[in-house]
Amino acid sequence: MTPRHARSLVLLLGTVLVASLFAALFLRTGASSINKPSIPYYDRIAYLTIPRRVEIQSVEGGAVNLNEIAFFIDTIGEWARIKGSSSPAIAVHLARLAGVLNQCPLLQDQTVVLFRESVEAITNDSKLSDGGFPIIIETNNGIAYRNSSGTNHLRSRQFNGFPHRDNAAAELGEMGLSINTSVETYGGLARSLRHVLAESVSNVHPSSELEWTLIAYSCYLDTFSWRTAVDDVVTLDDLVIALLQKPYERSPCLGTHKFYTLAFLYNVDQTHGLLGDKAAGLVKEEVIRVCRRLRSSQLPNGAWDSTWLGDTSADSAPPLSRGYAGECLRATGHILEALILIEQSIRPNDRQLLRATDYLMNALRGESSYSDFLTESTHAVRALVLLASDTSLHNRKVILNEFIPD
Ligand SMILES: [Zn+2]
Repeated sequence: MTPRHARSLVLLLGTVLVASLFAALFLRTGASSINKPSIPYYDRIAYLTIPRRVEIQSVEGGAVNLNEIAFFIDTIGEWARIKGSSSPAIAVHLARLAGVLNQCPLLQDQTVVLFRESVEAITNDSKLSDGGFPIIIETNNGIAYRNSSGTNHLRSRQFNGFPHRDNAAAELGEMGLSINTSVETYGGLARSLRHVLAESVSNVHPSSELEWTLIAYSCYLDTFSWRTAVDDVVTLDDLVIALLQKPYERSPCLGTHKFYTLAFLYNVDQTHGLLGDKAAGLVKEEVIRVCRRLRSSQLPNGAWDSTWLGDTSADSAPPLSRGYAGECLRATGHILEALILIEQSIRPNDRQLLRATDYLMNALRGESSYSDFLTESTHAVRALVLLASDTSLHNRKVILNEFIPD
């Protein structure tokens, strides 16, 4: 080899090396050919503070027993198989429950597999059953999940989409997963949760369905003001105030999702200073107001029903066609999940929480809770698992990594 050839070879190798480094950096940072707003995100998880265990010796003498809860979860698994565990609505509820599964070491292996599959389903279009119709799609600003409410341009009645705007992103956030969690679109493009949020922030508006969106943002967003694709300036506080102004009867599940999201925001704000002073004050005020109502609206059997807000708005919501038992299971499970996020000095006392626990345990012993009210049951069981647990979500993440795909 002549010196000139040797020099050319060194130059060539050098060029290849530099190009590879650029390519590696490019891929590592998740950059891609699709446009997205240059909004910084947390590259970490907003951990929630879950108060330590309520002493679980229920008022009627029955305890919250992990053996029995494991049985409830296995039963949910069986019914999910019957109903189609990869339908978006069921998958998203199973995945959310999967986030607390490590609290139930007594689960049958097949149930654990089913829950792992549900997490895979909400991050991979090809796992979702919809007769070949795309559900996770590429957009101008990132990627998006088709949903059956919320964002208009992605809304589609003929497709079996996700029930709510940012449904999947919120659940992945609640599970403590990284913003770099991979999400595969229809057609097999490898993207990440980062791209889901990029699309979401670029088309959000105070009139959007915000209950899940605000959970996702409080887990991942590291900016409090941004421009949308149509050049509106939106702030996180504007969105929070819009949710506060939304009538409870227009919020899903008897209005409880508005309360759950406010409890979630309150919890994250306490630990991470998420909100501006005004929004933080309003959220706290509302959480306190609702907790005060819940103390007096609990029924003698420990349940809450559609009158959970007392004489205010939610009781004007249309009654559930599937009956009163479903209404109580729905309201009580969702409310208990929210109360777990609020400190003991504000929420109803432990005795009231345990009466709700007794109600849920009794309800979940009946088969119709699963055959007729499967998604409601997942909320109820998740609340019980959290109440019976004495670990924080922080610890939970270690276990989660074992069954969540990278
Ligand atoms: Zn719900």
